Amino acid sequence: MEESIAIIRDKDTPSTKFRNHLRKIGRYLVYEASKKFETIDDTVQTPLSPVVVKKISHEVVVISVLRAALPMVDAIFEEFDNASLGVASASRGKMIDPKGTKFEIQSDYMKLPSLENKIVLLVDPMLATASTILFILEEIKHENPSKIVLLSAIASEFGIKQVEQRFPDVEIYSAAIDGVLNDKGYIIPGLGDAGDRACNTPH
Ligand code: URA
Repeated sequence: MEESIAIIRDKDTPSTKFRNHLRKIGRYLVYEASKKFETIDDTVQTPLSPVVVKKISHEVVVISVLRAALPMVDAIFEEFDNASLGVASASRGKMIDPKGTKFEIQSDYMKLPSLENKIVLLVDPMLATASTILFILEEIKHENPSKIVLLSAIASEFGIKQVEQRFPDVEIYSAAIDGVLNDKGYIIPGLGDAGDRACNTPH
């Protein structure tokens, strides 16, 4: 995973390669997270005999925070092909505090399946100020999921603290943790704008 982090951080990495490595990171993270999913025993029949196998005891819902999460979500669906998909468009609006640690969030579109008793994988490659994630968590907190897991490629220490304080039950998996946010709420060193880099829309 270190190699993939190095590649996505590099400003000279082209968009296709950036996406491929974001996918790899998504696969690593969901593999780690899934080690803690509850399982139940089931029996299947091999061509030679019955065998007791472990199956994940809850259905999985993946929530893609548009648009940067798309490559990671793609990889997660390779692991959990029965999962359901929810999408949440969320973009930063007005900065609420002058240090760049809090933004109003604009969400034009949110379409989620039932989360009741499901494992929810909330995917956003950059957990920076946590404004977006807190907005989504507020929207879904009354839906009674069995657990909520946040998967991000790079998280800021500040963002992690915000989530832990407001939603201590949310499990956070991140491939790297950076210490600084700049005054525009970008993670430093981070990787720049993950959405632009994944979608090849530089500005
Ligand atoms: N979103 C990004 O894409 N990058 C950051 O550094 C912060 C938020």
